[in-house]
Amino acid sequence: MKMQRKLLMIPGPIEFEPEVMDAMSIPTPSHVEPDFIESFGRVLEMMKQVWMCPSGQPFVVAGTGTLAMDIAGSNLIEPGDHALVISTGYFGQRYSDLLKRYGANVTLLTAPVGDIVPMDEIEATLKKRKYKLMTFTHVDTSTSVLNDPKPIGDLGKKYDVLTVIDGVCSVAGEEIQQEAWGIDVVLTASQKAVGVPPGLALMVVSQKAMSVWKNRSTPVGNYYADWGNWLPIMEAYLQRKPSYFGTPAVNLILALEKSLQLILKEGVEQRIERHRKAGHAFREGLKSLGLKIIPVKNSVAANTLSAPYFPEGIRGAVIISGILDKGVVVAGGLLPEIKSTYFRVGHMGMVSKKEIVTTLKAIEASLIKQGLKIEKDACLKTAFDIF
Ligand code: PMP
Repeated sequence: MKMQRKLLMIPGPIEFEPEVMDAMSIPTPSHVEPDFIESFGRVLEMMKQVWMCPSGQPFVVAGTGTLAMDIAGSNLIEPGDHALVISTGYFGQRYSDLLKRYGANVTLLTAPVGDIVPMDEIEATLKKRKYKLMTFTHVDTSTSVLNDPKPIGDLGKKYDVLTVIDGVCSVAGEEIQQEAWGIDVVLTASQKAVGVPPGLALMVVSQKAMSVWKNRSTPVGNYYADWGNWLPIMEAYLQRKPSYFGTPAVNLILALEKSLQLILKEGVEQRIERHRKAGHAFREGLKSLGLKIIPVKNSVAANTLSAPYFPEGIRGAVIISGILDKGVVVAGGLLPEIKSTYFRVGHMGMVSKKEIVTTLKAIEASLIKQGLKIEKDACLKTAFDIF
C-alpha cells in the first residue's frame, strides 16, 4: 500500500512508536522457540505492572477489543445471571447485546449524552437485586465520556458484584489501579493507548473472578473464548514453558513486548500525566476555536480522545476533508443519535505537543476555509501555555 503518510489522529489505530514497528517486523519465529517463550512470559508479567494488578491473571489472545469483551462476558455469565451495564455511549449498548447472547438478564443504565450515570443511581439499582456482574466503559470512544472507576469498584465490593471495565480506549492512557480499586476485569485491545497495531485482545482478571469462573455450573458458551482453553497457555508462558491452544499472534506479541517496555520505561504515572496534559491542551485549544465538546463537564472528559461538535450550519464532511487536506486524519461521529453532528480526535499513545499542535492547526485551517471568524493561532497559544 503506497500512499503519502498523514498524521493518524483517530481513536485507534493510532500512530505507533518506530521501535514497536521494528520489533514487529522481524522474521516470524516459532511460537514455541525459547526466545519467543521468554518474550511472551515477559509480556504477561509487564501487563500486571501496567494494569497495576500484581495478583491478577493476564490473558493475551489474537483478536480485537470486542473479543476481549466477549471473553470476559462468556466466561463470567451463565444463563439467567443478572448483569448491570452502565452505558455512556455506543460501547455500553454493545456490551448489553453481547451479555444477552450468553443468557444474561441485563439491566441497562444509560447516561444522558455527554454525561455519566450518577453513583447514587448505580447504587439504588444494585440495592434492588443481586447482580453477578456489572460493567462500564472507562472511556466511551463514541462520546469521549470518562467514568471514574474507583467509586464504581467500591460499589462492586460493597454489593459483592464482579466489576468489568471496558478499557479499550483507556488502558495505558487513563489512570487505572485495578487491584487497589478492586476491579475484577480490565480489558483492552492493542491498537489504542497500549500502542501496538490492531489484533490483540488483552485483559487482566482478578483471582476472585477466576474462582467465579472455576465454579461455574454450565460450560462456557464460546469455545474460542473459554478460559479453560487459554489459562493453561498463559500459565505455561509465565513459567517459560512451551504450550499451544491457538497459534499466538507472534509478531504482535513481540511488538507488545516492546511497547510495554516503553510504557514502563516512561513510567505508568508519567504516561497518564502526559495524556492528561495532552487532553487538557487539546480541549482548551478546541475551546479557543469556538468548538463545543460532547462531555458536559471537564471531570467527565477523557484524555485519550476528544469529541467536538461541528460548528452549526456547516457540513461535517467538509470540515473533516479540510483537516485531511492539512495532513491530519480524524474520525467522524459514532453515536447513532448524533452521528452527523460531531467528529472525534484520538490523542493517545505516543502523543506529544507536536501532534496536538499540528492537529489544532489543521482544524483551525479547515474552519477558516469555511468562512468562520477565528483569531489565527489563538488555539496554538492556548495549547502551548498548557504544555
Ligand atoms: N470498547 C471501546 C471503548 C472501544 O473504543 C472499542 C473500539 N473502538 C471497542 C470496545 C471494540 O474494540 P475493537 O474495535 O478492537 O473490536
